[in-house]
Parts: sequence; structure tokens; C-alpha cells
Amino acid sequence: MKIGVFGGTFDPVHRGHTALARAAQEKFQLARLHFVPAHIPPHKQKRPITPFLHRYAMICLATAAEKSWLPSLLEAPGNAPESRPSYTVETLRRLRFTLKKADELFFLMGIDAFLDIAKWHESTALFAECAFIVASRPGHSLADVAAALPEKLRPAQKVTAPFQRQRATGDLILPGVRVHLLDSVNNNASATAARQAAAAGRPLGKLLDPAVADYIRKHNLYRPG
Ligand code: ATP
Repeated sequence: MKIGVFGGTFDPVHRGHTALARAAQEKFQLARLHFVPAHIPPHKQKRPITPFLHRYAMICLATAAEKSWLPSLLEAPGNAPESRPSYTVETLRRLRFTLKKADELFFLMGIDAFLDIAKWHESTALFAECAFIVASRPGHSLADVAAALPEKLRPAQKVTAPFQRQRATGDLILPGVRVHLLDSVNNNASATAARQAAAAGRPLGKLLDPAVADYIRKHNLYRPG
């Protein structure tokens, strides 16, 4: 079975996330897709992050209509380390315990996040745990994607140079690397834009599922002071 994992801060979950989830599920026939909000301990935060419970509740609302989309507690406080952010490689290993040997994991992300993947904890080992489904954007080439790989998995520059002008689309399959690029996710929503719109009392319908927008209003999230 093919199983998707979508990790993020999801502060809040928005239409860009669900567009990527839908496109990935359609193209790769994922039987299940776990939405995994990260627990980020307060002292590790660059900006104040909304408490885990609110972010999880909003994911429950945004995924309610899709039977195969599962809000996940894998990185909930209590399940994940309390003293540092949870690492994706550890989360996937925990998930693996619950799966069959033949099950395949696909980790979903946007290309902006993927370009930093080499800095992730045990990044080389992470590629052994899962394949990646990455939402591409115009302006990035296949060579950029290859250059972002952890050093041990990265092909020599002379190999990737010819792909410098080739749009980041299709598959990048190398020893120990499976990256599938999706160029069909054309939704520019971001959590930053959603937080700013909520703070300013602007309409949220373009960025968020209506139930998530209602939740934000009811709980007065993202409002200044
Ligand atoms: P922020 O604006 O606060 O930086 P964000 O909108 O990027 O947040 P995250 O929860 O940090 O949301 O993102 C989780 C994952 O979803 C990341 O891999 C990110 O690249 C991806 N992502 C976010 N927005 C989009 C989008 N509009 N289309 C495709 N992928 C997206």
C-alpha cells in the first residue's frame, strides 16, 4: 500500500496544503494520507506558534470530508520529544512500526522546504525511509533539486549541469533517492498570508476551508494582543 505523510507546522492548514494533498493522492494513488502537525517546544520557536491542540483541531476540520485523510498525533506533545522539535526521520520510523513491510511511504512537501532538506536531521537516512512528492514552482530546475540532496546522495555537478534549464518536473530517481515532482499544484496560499488576513480581519475564504476560517474566528486566533 502507498501511504502519504504530510508534515508541517500547519499554523493554520490552508488551501495550498489541501491542493498538494489532493494532487499527490490523485497522481500516486495514496491509500491513506497522514497530516502530521509538528509539536514545536515553546523555547524553540522563532515566532509564537499556535498551540498544538488548535493546529490539530484545524487539521481535523480541513480533512473531515476526505475518508483517507487522517489527522495524526504522531508528533503530538507526549508522543514526540518535549525538549526539541520532532525529527521527521524519527516520526517515519515510528509510523513504520504500525505498517506492513511492503507498505511504501511518500513524504509530501513544497519545493521551498525541499531545497533545505540536506539540513534535516539524518537527512541521508531519511531518503531510505521514504520517497518524496514535492510541489514544484516555476523558477526551479531539476538541477536545483539534485543540488539540494544530502551530500552523500548528491550527483556530481557535471552530471546535473545539463539539467540547469530543465523545469523541476517529473521524477528524480538515483541510487537511494526517489523524488517525484508535481507541477500541477498552483495554489499560492500560505500560512503567513492566512495569519495576516486573520489579524487584519480580512476575509479568509480564498485561503482557508470555511470550517477552519470559522474556527479561527470563534477562538480569536491570530488577532493582535
Ligand atoms: P508559513 O507561511 O508560516 O511559512 P506554510 O504555508 O509554508 O507556512 P507549513 O505548515 O510550514 O505552511 O508547510 C508545510 C508544508 O507544506 C511545507 O513542505 C511547505 O513547503 C508546503 N506548502 C505550504 N504552502 C504550500 C502551497 N501553497 N503549495 C504547495 N505546498 C505548500
